[in-house]
This record gives sequence, C-alpha cells and structure tokens, in this order.
Amino acid sequence: MKAIRVERLGPPDVMELQDVPAPTPGPGEVRIEVEAVGINFADVLSVAGEYLTRTRVPYTPGMEFAGIVESLGEGVTGVQVGQRVAALGGSGALARYSVVNAAGLIPVPENLSGAQAAAFPVSYFTAYHGLKTLGRGVEGEWVLVQAAAGALGTASIQLAKAMGMHVIALASTEEKLALARDLGADVTILQDDPDRVQKVRDAAGGKGVPLILEVVGGKRFQESLDMAAPQGRIIVIGNASREQANLRPVELMKRNLTVTGLWLTSLMNDRAATMQAAQALAGLVGSGKVTPQVGPTYALADSARAFQDLLDRKTTGKVIIEP
Ligand code: NDP
Repeated sequence: MKAIRVERLGPPDVMELQDVPAPTPGPGEVRIEVEAVGINFADVLSVAGEYLTRTRVPYTPGMEFAGIVESLGEGVTGVQVGQRVAALGGSGALARYSVVNAAGLIPVPENLSGAQAAAFPVSYFTAYHGLKTLGRGVEGEWVLVQAAAGALGTASIQLAKAMGMHVIALASTEEKLALARDLGADVTILQDDPDRVQKVRDAAGGKGVPLILEVVGGKRFQESLDMAAPQGRIIVIGNASREQANLRPVELMKRNLTVTGLWLTSLMNDRAATMQAAQALAGLVGSGKVTPQVGPTYALADSARAFQDLLDRKTTGKVIIEP
C-alpha cells in the first residue's frame, strides 16, 4: 500500500511517499481503510522532532483520521466491518490502511462526512476541555480565541457560542477574521493590530478577558497576561510561535491570575472528563449545532505541501489529506 514515511526528522519535505506492506491487526485491534486524515500542528512538530513526545524514525505520521473498518483482530467485539469510525492514535494514519486499538475508536454521527469526522476529535475535545473542563467557562462570559480561523480556533468559536459565551477572535488576516465572524465571533481583531491589547480589554468591558485560550506562546504569552481580567484563567494549549515564553509568577499574584496547561493526550487518561466531553460533543455535533470546519484537502502524495501550508499559516479549518 502507499504510505508516507519519515526516515529522518526535519521540515515537511522529509516526508516521502513509499510502497509498504499493509499492517495486520493484532488481538484487540482493527484495520481501517483510511478515508481522511486530519492534520494537526502537532503532526508538523512531530515530523520536526519538536513535539512533547519523542518521535522515533522511521515512521508514518498522522494521528487523527476517519475511515471504514475493514477487518477485525482477535477478540474484538462491538465494532462491525463496514462501520465508519474516527480514531485518535499516535501515528500511522497517512496510509491507505491503518491499524488501531478498538478501544480507542470514536463513533461517527451519521450526519458527518469522512473529512468532517477526521476534523473532529483533536480540535473539538481540546476546545471543550479548554473552555469547560479546565477553563470553567460559563454562559455570558467572554473568551479570547487566538488563531481563530485554524482548526482549534474554529472549533473553539463554535463551542463557545453553543455554550452561550461571548467570543473575541484574533487572527492574522482579514479573511481569517471574516471566517471567525461567520462562525459567530462577536468581536474580531487582527493579531498584529498595534492596539490589540487595549482593543481586547475594551471589548470585554474594559477590565480584560476572564478566559483566554493561549496557542501562540513566545512573546505573545506576555500579551495574554496583559489581556486577562483580574482572576482571569489562561489555558495554555499551544506554542505555534515555537518560541519560549517567560513567566514571572509574581505577575500572576498581582492580579490573581491562573495559568493552566492543557495537553489532550494526557487528559484522555481522565476517563470521567473524556466521557463527559464525548457526551456533550456527540449531542452538539449529532444535532448539527456545531459542524467541523473542513479546510483545504490534499492527496497523499501532496502531504509535504499540506504540512508546509499549515506551517506557513495559509490554511483555515482542519487541513485534510485523503489517501
Ligand atoms: P491551526 O489550524 O490553528 O494552524 C496553526 C495556526 O497558528 C496558524 O494558522 C496561525 O494562525 C497560528 N499561528 C500563530 N503564530 C504562528 C506562527 N508563528 N507560526 C505558525 N502559525 C502561527 O492548527 P491546530 O488547530 O492544529 O493547532 C493550533 C494550536 O493549538 C497549535 O499551537 C497546536 O499545537 C495547539 N493544539 C494543542 C493541543 C493540545 O492538546 N495541547 C491540541 C490541539 C492543538 P494565524 O495566521 O491566524 O495567526
């Protein structure tokens, strides 16, 4: 079968299309014919060797995908051959077939296409945990969403609006801000507007924003502290700038700020939080109240270009690769 292989870590063009044997499902595993792979910023970092977990080469990238169950390993129950499922694994999705543990499969609501299902797990679970589980956002409260037209950003806007929150969206271009408004953002501000800190504070009533989903990091992290309201909660989800941020704890003390880290991979081990998020999201997606934003779609052979476009901030919604 065709698969993307990475033999040495580096920029997206280290990815090669190769012919490799199709994987065989072991006990408790299923083999899925991949329809669509959702590409995350984490995939780009993983290929570069800069992710939170160490990347071992050679490997096939791709952690989030949707497809049709093609065969079952020994002892698998509760899953049917022919069923459409979404899956979240460590790697291996950028291929015609991928093998995953049956316990990690996510049922796909009937109203979603393969691409929409592949755009769903990482962004929506992360957005839910950022807004609710860790962010403790409530109806009527303001939230600041950075990189608002991206995969996580569009999911965050939709979920925040579904929860009755008010959204301030930051993004790098007017086109991206227009998408954020289409999805319901109440206030949109260019991320490089020279008056952005004051504009964000004013939009939230003058005192700053009570909840911030921080995904840029570096020197922008200090700005998030400046944009926060007294007792504000800053949920650190990403570091798209790939620069280190400085945090002086005394600054948190002065305004009673809380900074909380969020990494979906480790939060998935919290069974109760995962079940609660899954239930809430199934209701919202199943009823059509939120719709995963499918972004540009690429063929498997164009995977390196897809990764580079994501890195170059050219994309909106979830970047999809169809093997
Ligand atoms: P996106 O689709 O949001 O794409 C990344 C976006 O980041 C770009 O479009 C760009 O938007 C913005 N950005 C800001 N500064 C930079 C920069 N210096 N270089 C490149 N992009 C920049 O990707 P994802 O939805 O996959 O991820 C968004 C963020 O959330 C990432 O930091 C990612 O690591 C994080 N994340 C973390 C998770 C976790 O478990 N902790 C789970 C999911 C995502 P703009 O042009 O508008 O600035």
